[in-house]
Amino acid sequence: MAKLENLDKIVNLSKTRGFVFQGSEIYGGMGNTWDYGPIGVELKNNIKKAWWKRFVQESDNSFGVDAAILMNSRVWEASGHTASFSDPKMDCKNCKTRHRADNLIEEYNKKHDIEMPVDSMSKEEMYNYIVEHQIKCPNCGKCDFTEIKNFNLMFSTKRGVTDDNQDVIYLRPETAQGEFVNFLNVQRTTRAKVPFGIAQIGKAFRNEITPGNFIFRTIEFEQMEHQFFCKPEDSEKFYNEYKQKAWDFAVSVGLNPEHIRFKDHDKLAHYAKAACDIQYLFPMGWSELNGIHNRSTWDLSRHQEFSGKSMQYLDPITNEKYIPNVVEYSIGCDRLVLAVLCEAYDEETLEDGETRIVMHFAPHIAPYKVAILPLQKNLSEKAKEIYKQIQKRFMATYDDAGSIGKRYRRQDEIGTPYCVTIDFDTLENGTVTVRDRDTMKQDTIKIEELANYLQQKLDA
Ligand code: ATP
Repeated sequence: MAKLENLDKIVNLSKTRGFVFQGSEIYGGMGNTWDYGPIGVELKNNIKKAWWKRFVQESDNSFGVDAAILMNSRVWEASGHTASFSDPKMDCKNCKTRHRADNLIEEYNKKHDIEMPVDSMSKEEMYNYIVEHQIKCPNCGKCDFTEIKNFNLMFSTKRGVTDDNQDVIYLRPETAQGEFVNFLNVQRTTRAKVPFGIAQIGKAFRNEITPGNFIFRTIEFEQMEHQFFCKPEDSEKFYNEYKQKAWDFAVSVGLNPEHIRFKDHDKLAHYAKAACDIQYLFPMGWSELNGIHNRSTWDLSRHQEFSGKSMQYLDPITNEKYIPNVVEYSIGCDRLVLAVLCEAYDEETLEDGETRIVMHFAPHIAPYKVAILPLQKNLSEKAKEIYKQIQKRFMATYDDAGSIGKRYRRQDEIGTPYCVTIDFDTLENGTVTVRDRDTMKQDTIKIEELANYLQQKLDA
């Protein structure tokens, strides 16, 4: 991993190589929306697949759902989002830019090495702190702000075909509620016994006051969330288990354990028993990657209260009836993609003095697993034949443009772990050369052994 001063190199590589583009770019863009390009969508899908494999496929007692983005508005009353899903916003009176008061204080404290919990401060305390420390507007450098107000982050829209029949509905600000409202359905149809989990991957929307840092904080993003339902007295054990699982998953997609850390929440929601984040050392400093929360029986109790449906679970062995406790693990997929991009990015000086940019993605999440490169154009017939075979088993790409060195560099920049060169030996001896992205070492392999060779490498 090369030391990155900021996100510029990642943003630039993303644009030039096709990981992520500015949303609606040809119209001048739409602030803080991003489109995944051909390489980025593969990377993101592979991360989602790896998450699903670990938290659904390889978990004996977890089940997936894909709930609607638009939900009955009562859901957001029950969850507390209508009343209190807000951030403390204030405007700079001088340049009229909008800021999150807590973020300005956090940035200031980071710069001045001040350890102080910001999330337990009231609006008045934040305002006084900003004035006392003369914290400046990052845009114009003045310290002249309006009072702090709560700003609800939910995007609302209206449904109904006529003006007088309109209901306000919301784009979901988190996927979690889709799992809670389906607790009974999943339990009934799978005959799952508590403890069990429900997982979901899907879009969420937040009208963030200060989105930014590329895909770190956006107004539309994807979450991967897992709610684990257990007996209240077992919740601490499962909370610790999910902390470990979340950590192991982050490492499994290539994050260096030295670049992640647990951070307990300074202030707990009134219903929570415990909460922590895993932070990643992004170029802009340690920042939240995911959260793990022991949420007590709050979520199901609230849905019981607001829907009138019993959320009690009847233990078939003890006949005990209780509302299960929830342990939540929630991670932003886009934020994880950004961490993976930062971690994988490297600039290496080669023996011949040239430098190469290389993305050291873990092979299972690399966009392409293999590139097929004919040494010369007149080898393309054989090369295409091999490409056709290989692409049945692996996400593969084909490149016959430019010198072989240039083609290797292109594949390094998008993190393709293996390049297969088709040369004259391929026609004569039926062999190909496989180059390893990281070591740049080459192996000669028989064509008929190529697929199994690659599979073994990728599985390792
Ligand atoms: P933050 O403190 O960064 O605003 P949060 O604590 O509000 O995040 P949660 O509500 O716990 O976040 O959401 C779970 C996860 O969803 C976060 O850990 C993060 O990875 C992701 N996430 C939340 N908001 C955004 C956003 N605006 N853009 C991208 N990812 C987000």
